Amino acid sequence: MSTPTQNHQNLNLDNVETIKFQIIQKVACFALVIHVVLIFIFAQLGVFLLAFANIFSVLAWATGIILISRGLGSLALRVFSIEVILHSILVCATLGLELGFQFYLWTVSCLLLIDYQLKLKQALIYSFVLILTFAALYLCFSDVVYTYAYSDFVQYIEVGNIIIAGLPMVYAIGLIREITISQRIELTDMAAKDHLTKLYNRRFAKELILAAYKESAFTDKKICLVMADIDFFKRINDSCGHEKGDSILVAIANLITQHINKQGIAVRWGGEEFLIVLTNSNEKDAFTHIENMRQSIAAMTFPVDGQKLNITMSFGLIQWQPNASLEEMLQQADAALYKSKKNGRNQTTIATAEHNSAPS
Ligand code: GH3
Ligand code: MG
Ligand code: MG
Repeated sequence: MSTPTQNHQNLNLDNVETIKFQIIQKVACFALVIHVVLIFIFAQLGVFLLAFANIFSVLAWATGIILISRGLGSLALRVFSIEVILHSILVCATLGLELGFQFYLWTVSCLLLIDYQLKLKQALIYSFVLILTFAALYLCFSDVVYTYAYSDFVQYIEVGNIIIAGLPMVYAIGLIREITISQRIELTDMAAKDHLTKLYNRRFAKELILAAYKESAFTDKKICLVMADIDFFKRINDSCGHEKGDSILVAIANLITQHINKQGIAVRWGGEEFLIVLTNSNEKDAFTHIENMRQSIAAMTFPVDGQKLNITMSFGLIQWQPNASLEEMLQQADAALYKSKKNGRNQTTIATAEHNSAPS
């Protein structure tokens, strides 16, 4: 049986944002160190203009790191972007395109798209301008030639730049993928689950139950439906308050989930009423299972005004009859629940199946 959260971890979007800026901060520290090294490399190569420019680069990255730690991640991204653009243009204008510093323009154009404080249109325009700048560098500076003291190192610097520029692009696309998946899971979960108890809601559960029924018919496994209702819940609400009532509903929902332990489907059918579907259970096993659950619920205590409150629940159980419709079975489980209530509550009644097994 497949459920919305089964295959992917449900990532909170705020967590994604935090992780994003934690990683960007680490990348920024790495960039800062690179620019310190570049000061010495350019000085060694005798390109003092670039050695001097890299002092400003170091300052820019340090400023960005401080901005991120103060929660101004978006502003930091802009500072980094401006630094990278100016640095790329300056290096290409001075040394040509051989060193590969122009590739950082692609990186920044990707990073701008994951800055959610920029409007999409704005981010797209900036990104496109960066790609145009990249093209312009080739038009303007492809014939700039520089004679290096250590020319052997040039190709290593170029390869290094291509790799370092490529990694954040892969990261940015991976992050977008992660956010898209986690958003889809969150939306599916919101549509499928009751927000108080986190059990399936009635509308979504019907599809799951029918799928489980089809599977059971195919594999010849038995399936049982159990209607459950908290006893005298109105009284509890009236004497303890609605909030306490809510917390009791959550505790009972958690206990039901623990008890069925992925071997069934638990649904908040409405108010203080639950539907439990036990897949791969015949009437006898289901009865034992539900009786255990009923006793665990009765044994739970809830502190109210320094006293211990006990809750009980009544159940109505039916084994799904061949070819019977879900509605028909639910009606009979409901009737069995009604008998449990009538006979004094805190008990499980098995429905006497009234289906004649003819295809419906
Ligand atoms: P019985 O044993 O016959 O089931 O009695 P009961 O009091 O449980 O049944 P009744 O249908 O009279 O009352 C159900 C109560 O459940 C009334 C309603 O206020 C309460 N209830 C329904 N949904 C919620 C909820 O989400 N939170 C809280 N706190 N109470 C709820
Ligand atoms: Mg009730
Ligand atoms: Mg009720």
